[in-house]
Amino acid sequence: MKSSLSIRDRAVVWHPYTQDKIAPLCLPIVRGDGSYIYTSDGQKLFDGISSWWTNAHGHCNPYIKEAINKQLDKLEHVIFASFTHEPAVVLAEKLLEIVPKNLSRVFYSDNGSSAVEIALKMAYQYWQHQKQDRSLFIALEYGYHGDTFGAMSVSERGTFTKPFWPLLFDVIKVKSPCVSEINLQMTASDLTNKYLADLKTVFIKYEGKMAGFIVEPMLQAASGMRIFTSGFLSGIRKLCDEYNTLLIADEVATGFYRTNKCFALDHENVLPDIMCLAKCLTGGFLPLAVTLASENIYQAFLSDSKADALLHGHSFTANALACASAVASLELFALKETREAINAIAHITSLRAKELASPYIKNIRVIGTIIIIELHDDHSGYLSSIGQKIYDYCLSHGLFIRPLGHIIYLMPPYSSSVKEISWAIDIIAQAIDIYGIGHKAPCDGDG
Ligand SMILES: *Cc1c(COP(=O)(O)O)cnc(C)c1O
Repeated sequence: MKSSLSIRDRAVVWHPYTQDKIAPLCLPIVRGDGSYIYTSDGQKLFDGISSWWTNAHGHCNPYIKEAINKQLDKLEHVIFASFTHEPAVVLAEKLLEIVPKNLSRVFYSDNGSSAVEIALKMAYQYWQHQKQDRSLFIALEYGYHGDTFGAMSVSERGTFTKPFWPLLFDVIKVKSPCVSEINLQMTASDLTNKYLADLKTVFIKYEGKMAGFIVEPMLQAASGMRIFTSGFLSGIRKLCDEYNTLLIADEVATGFYRTNKCFALDHENVLPDIMCLAKCLTGGFLPLAVTLASENIYQAFLSDSKADALLHGHSFTANALACASAVASLELFALKETREAINAIAHITSLRAKELASPYIKNIRVIGTIIIIELHDDHSGYLSSIGQKIYDYCLSHGLFIRPLGHIIYLMPPYSSSVKEISWAIDIIAQAIDIYGIGHKAPCDGDG
Protein backbone atom coordinates (compact mmCIF):
# COMPACT_ATOMS: atom_id res chain seq x y z
CA MET A 1 0.00 0.00 0.00
CA LYS A 2 2.68 2.53 1.03
CA SER A 3 5.16 3.15 -1.72
CA SER A 4 8.87 3.32 -1.06
CA LEU A 5 8.72 7.10 -1.50
CA SER A 6 6.73 7.35 1.75
CA ILE A 7 9.47 5.43 3.55
CA ARG A 8 12.26 7.51 2.02
CA ASP A 9 10.27 10.62 2.99
CA ARG A 10 10.05 9.49 6.63
CA ALA A 11 13.81 8.99 6.66
CA VAL A 12 14.77 12.49 5.51
CA VAL A 13 11.86 14.96 5.61
CA TRP A 14 10.38 16.88 8.56
CA HIS A 15 6.73 17.78 7.84
CA PRO A 16 4.74 20.76 9.16
CA TYR A 17 2.21 20.26 11.97
CA THR A 18 3.06 16.57 12.08
CA GLN A 19 3.99 14.28 14.97
CA ASP A 20 6.06 11.79 13.01
CA LYS A 21 6.19 9.30 15.85
CA ILE A 22 2.47 8.56 15.63
CA ALA A 23 1.47 9.95 12.23
CA PRO A 24 0.95 7.52 9.36
CA LEU A 25 3.46 7.81 6.53
CA CYS A 26 2.74 10.64 4.11
CA LEU A 27 1.02 9.64 0.87
CA PRO A 28 2.95 10.45 -2.29
CA ILE A 29 0.88 12.61 -4.63
CA VAL A 30 1.81 12.27 -8.26
CA ARG A 31 -0.77 14.37 -10.03
CA GLY A 32 -3.39 17.03 -9.55
CA ASP A 33 -6.33 17.74 -11.79
CA GLY A 34 -9.15 20.16 -10.94
CA SER A 35 -10.52 19.40 -7.48
CA TYR A 36 -8.65 16.07 -7.30
CA ILE A 37 -5.22 14.85 -6.33
CA TYR A 38 -3.94 11.36 -7.17
CA THR A 39 -1.75 9.16 -5.00
CA SER A 40 1.06 7.06 -6.43
CA ASP A 41 -1.01 3.93 -5.95
CA GLY A 42 -3.84 5.37 -7.97
CA GLN A 43 -6.23 6.64 -5.30
CA LYS A 44 -8.24 9.67 -6.41
CA LEU A 45 -8.83 12.16 -3.60
CA PHE A 46 -11.15 15.15 -3.56
CA ASP A 47 -9.11 18.07 -2.15
CA GLY A 48 -11.71 19.23 0.38
CA ILE A 49 -9.52 21.94 1.91
CA SER A 50 -7.95 23.27 -1.28
CA SER A 51 -4.47 22.17 -0.20
CA TRP A 52 -4.35 24.27 2.95
CA TRP A 53 -6.76 26.82 1.52
CA THR A 54 -4.44 27.86 -1.30
CA ASN A 55 -6.09 26.38 -4.34
CA ALA A 56 -8.72 28.47 -6.07
CA HIS A 57 -9.40 27.25 -9.60
CA GLY A 58 -8.42 23.60 -9.30
CA HIS A 59 -5.07 21.83 -9.54
CA CYS A 60 -3.09 22.28 -12.76
CA ASN A 61 -5.58 24.80 -14.07
CA PRO A 62 -4.60 25.11 -17.74
CA TYR A 63 -4.99 28.90 -17.94
CA ILE A 64 -2.67 29.56 -15.00
CA LYS A 65 -0.27 26.90 -16.24
CA GLU A 66 -0.01 28.66 -19.57
CA ALA A 67 0.56 32.05 -17.94
CA ILE A 68 3.45 30.65 -15.89
CA ASN A 69 4.89 28.93 -18.96
CA LYS A 70 4.79 32.17 -20.94
CA GLN A 71 6.52 34.05 -18.14
CA LEU A 72 9.10 31.29 -17.84
CA ASP A 73 10.25 32.07 -21.38
CA LYS A 74 10.95 35.68 -20.40
CA LEU A 75 12.11 35.99 -16.81
CA GLU A 76 11.92 33.66 -13.83
CA HIS A 77 13.07 35.97 -11.05
CA VAL A 78 15.03 39.13 -10.46
CA ILE A 79 16.02 41.08 -7.34
CA PHE A 80 13.12 43.41 -6.53
CA ALA A 81 15.15 46.37 -5.25
CA SER A 82 16.57 48.55 -8.06
CA PHE A 83 14.44 46.54 -10.50
CA THR A 84 10.81 45.91 -11.29
CA HIS A 85 9.00 43.79 -13.89
CA GLU A 86 5.71 43.69 -15.72
CA PRO A 87 3.97 40.89 -13.78
CA ALA A 88 4.58 42.70 -10.47
CA VAL A 89 3.27 46.02 -11.77
CA VAL A 90 0.27 44.50 -13.54
CA LEU A 91 -0.61 42.46 -10.46
CA ALA A 92 -0.42 45.52 -8.19
CA GLU A 93 -2.63 47.47 -10.61
CA LYS A 94 -5.15 44.66 -10.79
CA LEU A 95 -5.23 44.14 -7.02
CA LEU A 96 -5.83 47.82 -6.40
CA GLU A 97 -8.90 47.63 -8.65
CA ILE A 98 -10.55 45.01 -6.41
CA VAL A 99 -9.38 45.66 -2.85
CA PRO A 100 -11.09 48.25 -0.59
CA LYS A 101 -10.68 51.53 -2.41
CA ASN A 102 -8.62 53.40 0.20
CA LEU A 103 -5.68 51.02 -0.27
CA SER A 104 -3.12 52.32 -2.74
CA ARG A 105 0.23 50.54 -2.22
CA VAL A 106 1.29 46.92 -2.62
CA PHE A 107 4.26 45.47 -0.73
CA TYR A 108 5.26 41.99 -1.89
CA SER A 109 6.46 38.99 0.11
CA ASP A 110 5.99 35.26 -0.24
CA ASN A 111 3.81 33.83 2.55
CA GLY A 112 0.98 34.89 4.82
CA SER A 113 3.03 34.98 8.01
CA SER A 114 5.49 37.38 6.39
CA ALA A 115 2.61 39.51 5.09
CA VAL A 116 1.44 39.80 8.71
CA GLU A 117 4.95 40.61 10.01
CA ILE A 118 5.17 43.35 7.41
CA ALA A 119 1.77 44.72 8.41
CA LEU A 120 2.83 44.87 12.07
CA LYS A 121 6.11 46.55 11.18
CA MET A 122 4.36 49.08 8.93
CA ALA A 123 1.91 49.97 11.69
CA TYR A 124 4.56 50.19 14.39
CA GLN A 125 6.95 52.30 12.35
CA TYR A 126 4.10 54.47 11.05
CA TRP A 127 3.53 55.78 14.58
CA GLN A 128 7.25 56.48 14.98
CA HIS A 129 6.98 58.67 11.90
CA GLN A 130 4.07 60.42 13.64
CA LYS A 131 6.40 60.99 16.61
CA GLN A 132 4.15 58.86 18.77
CA ASP A 133 5.33 56.04 20.95
CA ARG A 134 2.83 53.26 20.34
CA SER A 135 3.81 49.68 20.92
CA LEU A 136 0.55 47.95 21.75
CA PHE A 137 -1.32 45.75 19.36
CA ILE A 138 -4.89 44.64 19.96
CA ALA A 139 -6.00 41.27 18.63
CA LEU A 140 -8.86 38.86 19.08
CA GLU A 141 -8.90 35.70 21.10
CA TYR A 142 -9.07 32.69 18.76
CA GLY A 143 -7.06 34.54 16.13
CA TYR A 144 -4.51 32.92 13.87
CA HIS A 145 -2.08 35.08 11.92
CA GLY A 146 0.80 32.77 11.09
CA ASP A 147 3.80 31.02 12.61
CA THR A 148 6.57 33.62 12.73
CA PHE A 149 7.18 35.40 16.04
CA GLY A 150 5.24 38.59 15.42
CA ALA A 151 2.39 36.64 13.85
CA MET A 152 2.38 34.19 16.77
CA SER A 153 2.34 37.08 19.23
CA VAL A 154 -0.90 38.45 17.82
CA SER A 155 -2.41 34.95 17.50
CA GLU A 156 -4.28 32.89 20.08
CA ARG A 157 -2.08 31.69 22.94
CA GLY A 158 -3.07 28.10 22.15
CA THR A 159 -1.70 24.72 21.18
CA PHE A 160 0.12 26.06 18.12
CA THR A 161 2.16 28.64 20.01
CA LYS A 162 2.51 27.15 23.49
CA PRO A 163 6.23 26.20 23.39
CA PHE A 164 7.04 29.82 22.48
CA TRP A 165 4.86 31.80 24.87
CA PRO A 166 7.77 33.23 26.87
CA LEU A 167 9.27 34.69 23.69
CA LEU A 168 6.13 36.37 22.39
CA PHE A 169 5.47 40.08 22.89
CA ASP A 170 2.46 41.19 24.92
CA VAL A 171 -0.71 41.86 22.99
CA ILE A 172 -4.07 43.03 24.34
CA LYS A 173 -6.59 40.28 23.60
CA VAL A 174 -10.29 40.89 23.28
CA LYS A 175 -13.21 38.56 22.68
CA SER A 176 -15.25 38.27 19.52
CA PRO A 177 -18.86 37.11 19.13
CA CYS A 178 -19.37 33.91 17.11
CA VAL A 179 -22.67 33.10 15.41
CA SER A 180 -22.66 29.80 17.32
CA GLU A 181 -23.49 31.78 20.48
CA ILE A 182 -26.78 33.03 19.10
CA ASN A 183 -29.69 31.61 21.13
CA LEU A 184 -33.15 32.54 22.33
CA GLN A 185 -31.79 34.93 24.93
CA MET A 186 -29.10 36.52 22.77
CA THR A 187 -29.75 37.61 19.19
CA ALA A 188 -26.92 38.35 16.78
CA SER A 189 -27.25 42.06 17.40
CA ASP A 190 -27.32 41.58 21.19
CA LEU A 191 -24.04 39.70 20.89
CA THR A 192 -22.49 42.27 18.58
CA ASN A 193 -23.45 45.10 20.94
CA LYS A 194 -22.23 43.27 24.02
CA TYR A 195 -18.80 42.46 22.58
CA LEU A 196 -18.39 45.90 21.05
CA ALA A 197 -19.16 47.48 24.41
CA ASP A 198 -16.41 45.37 26.00
CA LEU A 199 -14.10 46.32 23.17
CA LYS A 200 -14.82 49.97 23.71
CA THR A 201 -13.60 49.81 27.30
CA VAL A 202 -10.31 48.41 26.01
CA PHE A 203 -10.01 51.21 23.46
CA ILE A 204 -10.68 53.78 26.16
CA LYS A 205 -8.11 52.23 28.46
CA TYR A 206 -5.34 52.13 25.85
CA GLU A 207 -6.18 55.26 23.89
CA GLY A 208 -3.02 56.83 22.46
CA LYS A 209 -0.98 53.67 23.03
CA MET A 210 -2.44 51.37 20.37
CA ALA A 211 -0.36 50.79 17.25
CA GLY A 212 -3.09 48.78 15.59
CA PHE A 213 -5.91 46.28 15.75
CA ILE A 214 -5.37 43.10 13.76
CA VAL A 215 -8.33 41.00 12.73
CA GLU A 216 -9.28 38.13 10.44
CA PRO A 217 -12.42 39.71 8.95
CA MET A 218 -15.69 37.77 9.42
CA LEU A 219 -14.04 34.35 9.84
CA GLN A 220 -11.43 33.49 12.44
CA ALA A 221 -10.17 30.48 10.59
CA ALA A 222 -7.33 28.26 11.84
CA SER A 223 -7.98 28.78 15.56
CA GLY A 224 -11.55 27.55 15.53
CA MET A 225 -13.50 28.56 12.42
CA ARG A 226 -15.53 31.21 14.23
CA ILE A 227 -17.86 33.46 12.23
CA PHE A 228 -18.60 36.98 13.51
CA THR A 229 -22.11 38.12 14.18
CA SER A 230 -22.98 40.89 11.76
CA GLY A 231 -22.01 44.40 12.71
CA PHE A 232 -18.98 43.36 14.74
CA LEU A 233 -16.45 44.01 11.98
CA SER A 234 -17.86 47.41 11.06
CA GLY A 235 -18.04 48.17 14.79
CA ILE A 236 -14.31 47.52 15.09
CA ARG A 237 -13.65 49.93 12.22
CA LYS A 238 -15.72 52.61 13.94
CA LEU A 239 -13.84 52.17 17.21
CA CYS A 240 -10.48 52.32 15.40
CA ASP A 241 -11.57 55.65 13.89
CA GLU A 242 -12.97 56.99 17.13
CA TYR A 243 -9.86 56.09 19.16
CA ASN A 244 -7.41 56.73 16.34
CA THR A 245 -5.64 53.48 15.65
CA LEU A 246 -4.89 51.44 12.53
CA LEU A 247 -7.02 48.52 11.40
CA ILE A 248 -5.03 45.61 9.95
CA ALA A 249 -7.18 43.13 8.02
CA ASP A 250 -5.62 39.69 7.72
CA GLU A 251 -7.44 38.29 4.69
CA VAL A 252 -4.83 35.58 4.08
CA ALA A 253 -7.50 32.88 4.48
CA THR A 254 -10.70 34.76 3.64
CA GLY A 255 -9.53 36.60 0.51
CA PHE A 256 -10.64 35.72 -3.00
CA TYR A 257 -14.25 34.65 -2.50
CA ARG A 258 -13.94 32.07 0.27
CA THR A 259 -16.79 33.90 2.01
CA ASN A 260 -18.56 34.49 -1.34
CA LYS A 261 -17.45 38.11 -1.41
CA CYS A 262 -14.19 39.03 -3.04
CA PHE A 263 -12.89 39.94 0.44
CA ALA A 264 -14.55 39.28 3.79
CA LEU A 265 -14.31 43.02 4.50
CA ASP A 266 -16.80 43.54 1.68
CA HIS A 267 -19.57 41.98 3.80
CA GLU A 268 -19.68 45.20 5.81
CA ASN A 269 -17.89 47.55 3.40
CA VAL A 270 -15.05 48.06 5.82
CA LEU A 271 -11.94 49.96 4.73
CA PRO A 272 -8.77 48.71 6.45
CA ASP A 273 -5.59 50.75 6.83
CA ILE A 274 -3.48 47.70 6.03
CA MET A 275 -4.50 44.39 4.47
CA CYS A 276 -2.69 41.05 4.09
CA LEU A 277 -3.30 38.55 1.28
CA ALA A 278 -1.59 35.25 0.46
CA LYS A 279 -2.99 31.69 0.22
CA CYS A 280 -5.29 31.94 -2.86
CA LEU A 281 -3.40 34.86 -4.40
CA THR A 282 -1.65 32.84 -7.12
CA GLY A 283 -4.61 30.49 -7.46
CA GLY A 284 -2.60 27.99 -5.43
CA PHE A 285 0.34 27.51 -7.80
CA LEU A 286 3.21 29.42 -6.22
CA PRO A 287 4.03 31.13 -2.94
CA LEU A 288 3.26 34.85 -2.96
CA ALA A 289 1.83 37.35 -0.51
CA VAL A 290 1.07 41.05 -0.38
CA THR A 291 0.62 43.63 2.34
CA LEU A 292 -1.44 46.55 1.06
CA ALA A 293 -1.42 49.96 2.70
CA SER A 294 -3.37 53.18 2.47
CA GLU A 295 -1.64 56.16 0.86
CA ASN A 296 -1.49 57.89 4.24
CA ILE A 297 0.65 55.09 5.66
CA TYR A 298 2.88 54.93 2.60
CA GLN A 299 3.45 58.69 2.64
CA ALA A 300 4.52 58.60 6.30
CA PHE A 301 7.62 56.62 5.31
CA LEU A 302 8.78 59.15 2.70
CA SER A 303 11.64 61.38 3.77
CA ASP A 304 15.18 62.33 2.75
CA SER A 305 16.58 59.68 5.06
CA LYS A 306 16.94 56.07 4.06
CA ALA A 307 16.53 55.13 7.73
CA ASP A 308 12.87 56.19 7.52
CA ALA A 309 12.10 53.60 4.82
CA LEU A 310 10.51 50.25 5.54
CA LEU A 311 13.75 48.31 5.77
CA HIS A 312 12.24 44.91 5.14
CA GLY A 313 12.51 42.52 2.21
CA HIS A 314 12.80 38.92 1.13
CA SER A 315 15.07 37.30 -1.45
CA PHE A 316 12.09 36.13 -3.45
CA THR A 317 10.05 39.33 -3.14
CA ALA A 318 7.62 39.59 -6.09
CA ASN A 319 8.86 36.48 -7.87
CA ALA A 320 7.94 36.98 -11.52
CA LEU A 321 6.47 33.50 -12.02
CA ALA A 322 4.33 33.86 -8.90
CA CYS A 323 3.13 37.30 -9.99
CA ALA A 324 2.24 35.96 -13.46
CA SER A 325 0.32 33.15 -11.81
CA ALA A 326 -1.58 35.63 -9.62
CA VAL A 327 -2.43 37.84 -12.60
CA ALA A 328 -3.88 34.79 -14.39
CA SER A 329 -5.82 33.82 -11.26
CA LEU A 330 -7.34 37.31 -11.06
CA GLU A 331 -8.30 37.07 -14.73
CA LEU A 332 -10.14 33.85 -13.95
CA PHE A 333 -11.92 35.49 -11.01
CA ALA A 334 -13.10 38.23 -13.37
CA LEU A 335 -15.00 35.66 -15.47
CA LYS A 336 -18.72 35.30 -15.00
CA GLU A 337 -18.37 31.49 -15.03
CA THR A 338 -16.03 31.54 -12.04
CA ARG A 339 -18.36 33.71 -10.01
CA GLU A 340 -21.31 31.51 -10.92
CA ALA A 341 -19.40 28.42 -9.83
CA ILE A 342 -18.59 30.08 -6.49
CA ASN A 343 -22.22 31.11 -6.03
CA ALA A 344 -23.36 27.57 -6.77
CA ILE A 345 -20.93 26.14 -4.18
CA ALA A 346 -22.10 28.66 -1.59
CA HIS A 347 -25.74 27.87 -2.38
CA ILE A 348 -25.51 24.08 -2.08
CA THR A 349 -23.35 24.43 1.03
CA SER A 350 -25.93 26.48 2.88
CA LEU A 351 -28.78 24.23 1.68
CA ARG A 352 -27.07 21.06 2.86
CA ALA A 353 -26.06 22.66 6.15
CA LYS A 354 -29.73 23.25 6.98
CA GLU A 355 -30.55 19.56 6.54
CA LEU A 356 -27.66 18.14 8.52
CA ALA A 357 -28.62 16.90 11.93
CA SER A 358 -26.90 14.62 14.40
CA PRO A 359 -26.85 14.44 18.18
CA TYR A 360 -23.06 14.63 17.97
CA ILE A 361 -23.05 17.98 16.23
CA LYS A 362 -22.87 20.99 18.50
CA ASN A 363 -23.10 23.67 15.84
CA ILE A 364 -23.13 24.00 12.06
CA ARG A 365 -22.18 27.29 10.50
CA VAL A 366 -21.63 28.43 6.96
CA ILE A 367 -19.95 31.43 5.42
CA GLY A 368 -19.85 31.52 1.63
CA THR A 369 -18.17 28.38 0.30
CA ILE A 370 -17.10 27.12 3.74
CA ILE A 371 -19.11 24.74 5.91
CA ILE A 372 -18.04 24.25 9.51
CA ILE A 373 -19.33 21.36 11.59
CA GLU A 374 -18.42 21.65 15.25
CA LEU A 375 -18.81 18.42 17.19
CA HIS A 376 -19.34 18.24 20.92
CA ASP A 377 -16.02 19.07 22.47
CA ASP A 378 -14.07 16.64 24.60
CA HIS A 379 -12.05 19.63 25.86
CA SER A 380 -8.90 18.62 24.05
CA GLY A 381 -9.51 21.11 21.22
CA TYR A 382 -7.06 20.82 18.32
CA LEU A 383 -5.58 17.69 19.88
CA SER A 384 -8.96 15.92 20.03
CA SER A 385 -8.77 12.40 18.56
CA ILE A 386 -12.15 12.52 16.84
CA GLY A 387 -10.62 14.53 14.01
CA GLN A 388 -8.19 11.73 13.13
CA LYS A 389 -10.97 9.14 12.99
CA ILE A 390 -13.08 11.32 10.74
CA TYR A 391 -10.03 12.09 8.62
CA ASP A 392 -9.31 8.36 8.18
CA TYR A 393 -12.90 7.54 7.24
CA CYS A 394 -13.13 10.36 4.71
CA LEU A 395 -9.74 9.52 3.19
CA SER A 396 -10.73 5.89 2.70
CA HIS A 397 -13.82 7.18 0.86
CA GLY A 398 -11.85 9.45 -1.44
CA LEU A 399 -12.26 12.71 0.45
CA PHE A 400 -9.28 14.60 1.85
CA ILE A 401 -10.05 16.98 4.74
CA ARG A 402 -8.04 18.09 7.79
CA PRO A 403 -10.24 18.55 10.86
CA LEU A 404 -9.11 21.06 13.49
CA GLY A 405 -9.67 18.64 16.35
CA HIS A 406 -13.43 18.40 16.82
CA ILE A 407 -14.09 21.04 14.16
CA ILE A 408 -14.69 19.58 10.73
CA TYR A 409 -14.85 21.85 7.71
CA LEU A 410 -14.82 21.93 3.93
CA MET A 411 -13.09 24.70 1.98
CA PRO A 412 -13.18 23.32 -1.57
CA PRO A 413 -11.58 24.58 -4.78
CA TYR A 414 -13.97 26.55 -6.98
CA SER A 415 -13.57 23.92 -9.69
CA SER A 416 -15.86 21.71 -7.59
CA SER A 417 -19.36 20.91 -8.82
CA VAL A 418 -22.51 21.11 -6.73
CA LYS A 419 -22.69 17.33 -6.89
CA GLU A 420 -19.16 16.95 -5.54
CA ILE A 421 -19.82 19.32 -2.65
CA SER A 422 -22.97 17.46 -1.73
CA TRP A 423 -21.11 14.13 -1.92
CA ALA A 424 -18.32 15.44 0.33
CA ILE A 425 -20.86 16.62 2.91
CA ASP A 426 -22.51 13.16 2.79
CA ILE A 427 -19.19 11.45 3.48
CA ILE A 428 -18.51 13.73 6.43
CA ALA A 429 -22.03 13.11 7.78
CA GLN A 430 -21.48 9.35 7.55
CA ALA A 431 -18.17 9.65 9.39
CA ILE A 432 -19.84 11.67 12.14
CA ASP A 433 -22.62 9.07 12.46
CA ILE A 434 -20.07 6.31 12.89
CA TYR A 435 -17.45 7.98 15.07
CA GLY A 436 -19.53 10.52 16.98
CA ILE A 437 -20.92 7.74 19.19
CA GLY A 438 -17.70 6.59 20.75
CA HIS A 439 -16.53 10.16 21.06
CA LYS A 440 -18.86 11.73 23.54
CA ALA A 441 -22.42 11.44 24.73
CA PRO A 442 -24.05 14.61 23.51
CA CYS A 443 -26.01 15.45 26.65
CA ASP A 444 -23.45 15.36 29.43
CA GLY A 445 -23.22 19.04 29.94
CA ASP A 446 -20.54 20.50 27.70
CA GLY A 447 -23.07 22.83 26.10
C1 LIG B 1 -2.60 30.72 6.87
C2 LIG B 1 -2.76 32.04 7.51
C3 LIG B 1 -1.64 32.86 7.74
C4 LIG B 1 -0.24 32.40 7.48
O1 LIG B 1 0.00 32.20 6.12
P1 LIG B 1 1.23 31.26 5.67
O2 LIG B 1 1.31 31.48 4.21
O3 LIG B 1 0.83 29.87 6.06
O4 LIG B 1 2.43 31.73 6.40
C5 LIG B 1 -1.87 34.12 8.25
N1 LIG B 1 -3.11 34.54 8.53
C6 LIG B 1 -4.20 33.79 8.32
C7 LIG B 1 -5.55 34.34 8.60
C8 LIG B 1 -4.06 32.50 7.83
O5 LIG B 1 -5.15 31.73 7.65
